[in-house]
Amino acid sequence: MKHQWNQNLLHTFLCIWVVNYAYFQLCILLPLLISPTRSLDWDSDIITTQEEREKEENDALSKYFNATKRDVNHFPSWEKMKEIIGEFEDVAKEKLRNHDYNAMTAMLKETALTYPNITSLYSAGKSTEGRDLWVLIISDNPTTHEELEPEIKYVGNMHGNEVVGRETLLYLIDILCKNYGKNKWLTSLVDGTRMHIMPSMNPDGYERGFDGDRQGYTGRENVHGIDLNRNFPPKYPAHRERTSGLYPEAETLVVMAWLKSQPFVLSANLHGGSLVANYPYDDSESGADGIYTMSQDDKLFVEMAYRYARGHANMWKTGRRCGLSQNGDVFVNGITNGAGWYHLAGGMQDWQYRFTNSLEITVEMGCFKFPTNAMYPKLWDEHKFALLSFLALGMGGVRGIVREANGQPIGNATILINDGKPIFSTSTGEYWRILTPGQHTITVIADSYESESFTVDLALPESAEVKNVTLSSCSAPVDKQRNVYRRGRGMTRIAVIGYSPLATPALSRLLNETCAASTPTHLPAHLSLLIIPSYTSGLANTIHKFDPRAVIMVTSGAPSSVLFSPRDTHPPLFQKERLDTSLKKAIPSEGQCVNEASGTRLAQEVDTFSLHDAFSLAVSIGCEGEEDYGKRWAAVEGVVEMIGNLLSSDSVSEYSVLPSANPLDHFSPSEALLSTSASLSIFEDEQQCAHRVEHSRLRITAVGTGRPPFTLVAAIEKRTESLIYEYLTTLCNSTSVRHKELKRRGTILFLPEIPSTQQNCHDYGSIDPFRFLLQDVQSVIPALDNAIFVASGGLKIRYLDPSGNGVTKRMGEAYKKEQTLMATAEYDVCSSERNTIAGGRTMSGKETLGGMNWSEGGGVDALLVQLGCCYEERSSSGLFSENEKALTAALEARTRGFSVPKDAAMVRSKSAGQEWKERGGAVFVPLLNGEYQLEIVWKNGEKKEVTVKISDSFPLVEFHPSSSSHSLLLAALLATFIIGIGIFALRRLGYSLYRRPFSESTVGFERIPLYMSEDEDEDDVINIRAL
Ligand SMILES: [Zn+2]
Repeated sequence: MKHQWNQNLLHTFLCIWVVNYAYFQLCILLPLLISPTRSLDWDSDIITTQEEREKEENDALSKYFNATKRDVNHFPSWEKMKEIIGEFEDVAKEKLRNHDYNAMTAMLKETALTYPNITSLYSAGKSTEGRDLWVLIISDNPTTHEELEPEIKYVGNMHGNEVVGRETLLYLIDILCKNYGKNKWLTSLVDGTRMHIMPSMNPDGYERGFDGDRQGYTGRENVHGIDLNRNFPPKYPAHRERTSGLYPEAETLVVMAWLKSQPFVLSANLHGGSLVANYPYDDSESGADGIYTMSQDDKLFVEMAYRYARGHANMWKTGRRCGLSQNGDVFVNGITNGAGWYHLAGGMQDWQYRFTNSLEITVEMGCFKFPTNAMYPKLWDEHKFALLSFLALGMGGVRGIVREANGQPIGNATILINDGKPIFSTSTGEYWRILTPGQHTITVIADSYESESFTVDLALPESAEVKNVTLSSCSAPVDKQRNVYRRGRGMTRIAVIGYSPLATPALSRLLNETCAASTPTHLPAHLSLLIIPSYTSGLANTIHKFDPRAVIMVTSGAPSSVLFSPRDTHPPLFQKERLDTSLKKAIPSEGQCVNEASGTRLAQEVDTFSLHDAFSLAVSIGCEGEEDYGKRWAAVEGVVEMIGNLLSSDSVSEYSVLPSANPLDHFSPSEALLSTSASLSIFEDEQQCAHRVEHSRLRITAVGTGRPPFTLVAAIEKRTESLIYEYLTTLCNSTSVRHKELKRRGTILFLPEIPSTQQNCHDYGSIDPFRFLLQDVQSVIPALDNAIFVASGGLKIRYLDPSGNGVTKRMGEAYKKEQTLMATAEYDVCSSERNTIAGGRTMSGKETLGGMNWSEGGGVDALLVQLGCCYEERSSSGLFSENEKALTAALEARTRGFSVPKDAAMVRSKSAGQEWKERGGAVFVPLLNGEYQLEIVWKNGEKKEVTVKISDSFPLVEFHPSSSSHSLLLAALLATFIIGIGIFALRRLGYSLYRRPFSESTVGFERIPLYMSEDEDEDDVINIRAL
């Protein structure tokens, strides 16, 4: 099983049962009376509620196969399979029992000896303790790969104590062998495929397990305590768990090599602990659970999973099963997306999907992980037809051989399918692709060859078609008349179009470089290009059909770029300024020609492509008469590569079909409101806590005095948006002294959503792309000089301190001390950049607090806080509780210093030679702890020297001019936020300070209450809140 913690409430329900029985004396009514909460045992019926019935009509299976999901010709039931297969000799009763390593080995060897014509036993490699990972091949020609015969496989017992797969695979071997030549259906399966069966991937773990273990963990992992189904190289290394290990274990390495050694087409990985067929992906991008994370082959995987489930006696049923606790596991139609259930990193099926041609699902074979011998006859009976039905899928789909015109096979050709992952031809040019019934367009692409496309139309899952493909050498264009070419095999499609005669030679060179067999290809593997060296009207439809994610129009003019598409189609990390700078550097040009890119004709032409989501831009590469084609070509190639990288680095594939996966479900309806943009207008309109800052594009909300210091708090990731909304909500609603005081000390600008928000959870090597965001805010609030960017993808803080005043570092320290997860952490626990020092267990990694710089120097002081690993199993609501105090602490640290709220023109420090000018009506001087001699220069020209002492107890000193004289009057000494004390203590401290104003004073200062409360009259002091 994947991993599930259940509370065993069996006894509770037994009690209920007994009481009910005694009371009613009507045992026959009992199941009806208590069925909704009754405990289930390992082989009980699956119980469906009305709500689950309704879900059954809205799940992925219904979405894709509504018309055929109950058609037993499409998805054969247990009964249908029994009928199709007909009579066969089943496993002898005495064999239906547990087989330990020695018994399993003996059984496999005996089979190989008894059936030498159709079996071949080999060891894929050794386990950590030296046991063989046996694989038995069953096929009509077992020792060699036959041309176009699909290689398919089963893997059992990856978790050592999940043994139903191991046993049923041994029984499967038994019936396949002894019915060969006797039963027609079974014989055709053996003849038509080459089956590789690995009954145990974790024989060491098995030997530590014990029969009768229903839901335990003894023997699950390998002998190093590593969970092999977490040990494959993960898509998101930061999602690794404690049991994942840092490096692949012996068993994992053996299996990885084995998976690469054969062109496997189809596979299932058999686990136990629940009853469901689970399909990729297992890991979600954010690392959250319950997020349906579909692969490109989602429909096919749904078909594969339901194919298995439907062939099982019970798995396919919707409802609760494995009721070892009150809840058990509920599945709709007996299948689930892996991450839609819960996420895991480093699983075998995800790795296999990403790095091999094979498509694998993971089957939970039953509620009981390690059954006793007596349980096997029933288990085998339930599974046998599902195991066979699933294998038959391997014979379906399309297969063929890719060759050159002269008949030579083309290895490593890409077989692109319009609705699935690409696969690659073997060294003998062979390919296999399982497909769902229906029509599919397949394109075959190979380096140095022109691509070929064809369609196949398949009726049933087992329908097969052979399509051999001959590719011609790549100098020939896709569309000869109009000189349209296709290059590359990747999934990121970019159209590169020459729009001026000047562009043609550069694009021809690009064509040449990306094709010619004699020169190394310059095209990154993830790109697929449509190249039109010389654009003519009438190609709009060709470009539209190519469905590019970006269109680059190459034209003449001074080196620069023009963007056509709306900003939300731009790659989030795209920077026009940087592109223009590098174009100017790359292409020496006088620019003495019309810039066609900025003309309306080109923009209108791009419109005719009807590409609503594509990132469209024009790039000017100089003027006619400037002889530098080489540089122009290099520049075009550079632009293509840069945009290709930007597009592929931040693509989003996470989506949710399950209502419970919506993070807002974790809030009550009224709370949900407070974590979304709906809260903004409430506070602005009704409570007047927040003020909307006028800006053409950004939704900026200001809270506080309207005076400096100005601090921006921006969520730069989708995941952290609700944290900012919630924080804003809390700040406005809160009656806490600390929050009130914070609002009184300056202005906080909230930017909960940004136009180019990061959809993906990832670590940030640089925050340069957000520099423009800051500039955008500064365009309306020039006094803004500090920002906090809130993201995830790590558990750490980076401070950027271009002003050198040390404030951001102090903010970072304050943040860290009050962030519940970071407080004591030395290293970023999310970081994959950890190393084991040879022989030891010492880890090194990124510190939780460190510096960072804007790459081009200068810039605004900023803090980048990363609040959680991508894999963390919680909703965004957890972020708030962990970070609320920390964010407050950082904002408090930001306001440490000396403030003159009005009438001052500037404050200067003669000794440091620094001055701080009035901004937004006030002067704020950020200061670290210490004593400072400062001079206030009033607007009327008068000056006043003051001594300011900043400490942890008095972090902010405010200075107010008297209304009657220019001599200075008061200062506000502000709340003490001694680090480490709780909010309760803070509140008490706050009140005590308020009730007992300080009467002793240092020279020239009078201390006054620290904050204003709404319900108390403060007329004895200057109203420092007056704006
Ligand atoms: Zn498992």
